[in-house]
This record gives sequence, C-alpha cells and structure tokens, in this order.
Amino acid sequence: MSSSFTIHQVAVIGAGTMGMGIAQVAAQAGHAVVLYDTNPAQTARALDDFASRLASRVARGKLTEQDATALRARISPAERLSELAGSDLVVEAIIERLDIKQQLFAELEGICGDRCILASNTSSISITAIGAALSRPERLAGLHFFNPAPVMKLVEVISGLATTAEVRDTLLTLARDWGKMAVHASSTPGFIVNRIARPYYGETLRALQEGCGSPQLLDTLMRSSGFPMGACELTDLIGQDVNFAVSSSVYRAFHDEPRYRPSLVQQALVDAGRFGRKTGQGFYAYENGKAEQVPLAAPAGQAPDRVLVLGDWSELKGAEALLGRYRGELERRDGSPALLIDGVRVELTSGRSCALRHPGLAAMALDWADDYESVSHIALGVSEYCTEQQVAAVVGFFQSLDKQVILLPDHPGMLVLRTIAMLVNEAAEACLHRVASPEDIDLAMRFGVNYPKGPVAWGAEVGYRRLLTLLDNLRTVYGEEKYRPSLQLRHWAVAEEAI
Ligand code: NAD
Repeated sequence: MSSSFTIHQVAVIGAGTMGMGIAQVAAQAGHAVVLYDTNPAQTARALDDFASRLASRVARGKLTEQDATALRARISPAERLSELAGSDLVVEAIIERLDIKQQLFAELEGICGDRCILASNTSSISITAIGAALSRPERLAGLHFFNPAPVMKLVEVISGLATTAEVRDTLLTLARDWGKMAVHASSTPGFIVNRIARPYYGETLRALQEGCGSPQLLDTLMRSSGFPMGACELTDLIGQDVNFAVSSSVYRAFHDEPRYRPSLVQQALVDAGRFGRKTGQGFYAYENGKAEQVPLAAPAGQAPDRVLVLGDWSELKGAEALLGRYRGELERRDGSPALLIDGVRVELTSGRSCALRHPGLAAMALDWADDYESVSHIALGVSEYCTEQQVAAVVGFFQSLDKQVILLPDHPGMLVLRTIAMLVNEAAEACLHRVASPEDIDLAMRFGVNYPKGPVAWGAEVGYRRLLTLLDNLRTVYGEEKYRPSLQLRHWAVAEEAI
C-alpha cells in the first residue's frame, strides 16, 4: 500500500487518561511526541506519573535504565498549540464535546502543515460532524484507542464522509506498526465496539428487570459461557454513570432505536449515585475494593433413576458425551431433542417461554453452552408448572454429571443464548449498513472487549437459523421491535441452509 503521508513527529492533545496512554504508545514505537494540554499542570503530572511507572519497571528488571530514559525523553511537553506545527500526525484526546473539538481542529488547520493528518480519539462524536468545521475535512479521521491505551490491542480507524482512503490506510498501517490490531469503521454511532457491545449489557439488565436472579447469579452464568466478566461487574468497573451515558448517547444518535433503549435498572443506580467501584457501591458493595461473594448454584437435588432421551443431541457440542456420564438408566426414543426427567420436559430454549411452548405442562428450558461437556454451569429456566420435587430431580440429574446448576425463572431465550443472538444480530445489522467488514467486526469484539469469539463467527457456530428463530420468537412473545432480526441475519440463515 503506497502512502504519501510520512509520520515522524506525533502530537497528542489532552494529557488525561487516554492522551498520556496514546503518547506512550507512539513514543514506544520510536516517534518523537509532543504533548499539549490546556492545563500545563496536568501535562506535568501525566509525565511525572509516566516517569514513576517507568522507574518501577526498571526496578522490577522489566526495562533497562537506558531504555526508560530514552523513552521518557521522546515525549516533550508543549506550552502552546503553535509548538505542534512540525507534527505529521495530531491525535486529539480532550473533553468529549463537539463544539470544543471543532474549535480545536479549526485552530490546528492554521498551525499544522498540509501533510499533517488530524485524528480524534472520540468514542462517541461523529467524525463527519467534527470535520464540518474544517476547510479540509478529508485529512481528519478517528483513531479510537481503548483504555488503557498501552495495554488494549484494538484501535478503530474511523472514516468520516470526507476522509480520504489515503488517510484511512496510513492510519491503519501506522496503528499496526505500533503493535495494535487495527480495524476500519465508518463514522456511525458507537463505531464498532461501543455499538455491538450494547446488547451485552442490555440483556443482563433486562433479565434483572424481569427478576431473573441476582447480579452475581447472572454474572456467574455469563462468565461460565466464556465472557471475561459478567455485565454487572463490568459496568461496576466501567462506572454505571459512564456506561449509562454511552447507552443513552447511542440510543439518541440512532433516533430512539428500541434495540438501544437504556435500562431503568441502570438509571436507578445512576440516580442513587451507585456508580460502581469508584463510589464503593454499584450492583455490588465493595469492601476494600472487593465485592462480597455469596453461594449461587442450586442446592443438592435428587438424581432420578431413569431418564428418557428424545431425539438426536449430537448437534449440541459435548451433549452426547455429557449424557454418557449418567449412571442411571438412559432410554432413547425418536423425536425432537428433549430430556424427560420425572415428568419434566427439558429442551434447549427456543425464544418462547416454557409456559407458552408447553401450556400447563412441567417444562424447563436449557440455556446455550458452546460445549456442554466442559462448561462449568448448566442454566435452566423453570416453568411455573414444575413441582419442587421435579425441580430437584432435574437439578440432581445435572449435578450427577458434575455440573453446577443455575436456576432462572421461565425467561424466554434464557440469558446466554439470548445475549449471543442479540450480539450476532447487532453485528449482522452493522454489516448490512456497511459499518465494517465481518472480519473487522469479529476482531474488534475479540480485541476491544475480549469476547471469547467474534459475533459473526460465533453465530455461524451456534447456527444463524437457530438464532433467527430465537429472535423471531422473542419479538413475538414480547411484541417488541427491540428483538427484530436483521435482514443480514436472515440472509446468513438462508445461505447456511444452501450449503
Ligand atoms: P480526561 O478527562 O482524562 O482528559 C482530558 C484532558 O484534556 C484533560 O487533561 C483536559 O485538561 C484536557 N483538555 C480539555 N480541553 C482541552 C482543550 N481544548 N485543549 C487541550 N486540552 C484540553 O479524558 P479521557 O478519558 O482521556 O478522554 C479523552 C477523549 O478520549 C474523549 O474524547 C473520550 O471520549 C475519549 N475516550 C475515552 C476513553 C476512556 O475510557 N476514558 C476511551 C476511549 C476514548
């Protein structure tokens, strides 16, 4: 890829959390970096903190004294914006306000040379809108790092309406040279990660609102399905106020699209000032920075002597191996896949509640696991027609297979499969609207928020048809547009069947 932009000196504006991190990344890659902040005391503080972090790495033998000195010397503070004149790239990481960013970039146009690329680290403001204040918006792009910038692998390069392919490609190449995983997105609300991650929070918050269980129970379930953190502990870490503000801004930016409607449960936390770790209380109470742990899994049940297995379970990875662990009598019959245990029909959730799927009958819904043999927890949704004894028999059955059991009420789509379905649907919609390629979406979600799999690939594994059916059912049972499947998901489901 040829590019006539050559990046030597990098300027970073804003010496806060993100700006200092970005300055460090650029300096580590060997660039001379100029750091400017309207508050010079902040620049001095950020550089002092950086020097102490380097000193501690030297003390721990992770860095030589010489390298630390050279790295520190590569970042120089600037007292005036005019000192950024010789830079080939300016990355802005200041306050998240359109008018202030526009004013800054307009000023930079008069300071920086023609071959200087202007980039914004904004997480929510349209690059196109920032560019509207510029006489040459074609050299402006988004360069969106994740916090902490020196650690997080992902960088989203964002093109506004006017951004040239040359600017885009230069930034993609540069970010990769800096050791980052760079993906490209068009300037649409939330870009890739902050848009596609919305349902991850949304579905757990919705389950809480419907009284499905405690934050700890739902977090345990999501962690057992491969996510690094459950949505409650994660939003406590991010800050309920920050996460709520992002959700609200994406919701508004999409003109009140129901998929992104912010949660009343989260609003209540924000209203109460329970922002999470930073205030000592969010979904969890933090004593000495740690949340209290309480036991979660269902108490010991009573394994039955015999179980009837209907249909073929081989489509669900690890399910047959798991059933093979059963020590009682396992009878097999044809039919659609279900287990009959003490009169209870147990089957994979379809997106309808058990009460609607089997009116008046004892039934339980099984949540999704990528591998039923290795997953630590099995989650079951219990219909109101199950007796205590029946619940104990089903719980006992799974416990006898060495699983911990999580019981939820009769929640349509359960938590894991419903969350995966909504993430895949969001990824499909982003593909349909040409926000990014399926490959970049998967990379972004794996490296930006550490999801165990990219949603597009995950959807193929679970089965697009299965997810489509689940969403169609959720849309029907709730009567909510929030759950309408993307046209792209329908196309993927049809293509899957054509193979
Ligand atoms: P911050 O509050 O830690 O730092 C912002 C700094 O900018 C402050 O030091 C402030 O003095 C300085 N500043 C404000 N107005 C300025 C101006 N006109 N000129 C020069 N300096 C100015 O903020 P942050 O968390 O580092 O966020 C900065 C940007 O990065 C925002 O656009 C934010 O949306 C984006 N971002 C933040 C995160 C995050 O997790 N914090 C992640 C990705 C992107």
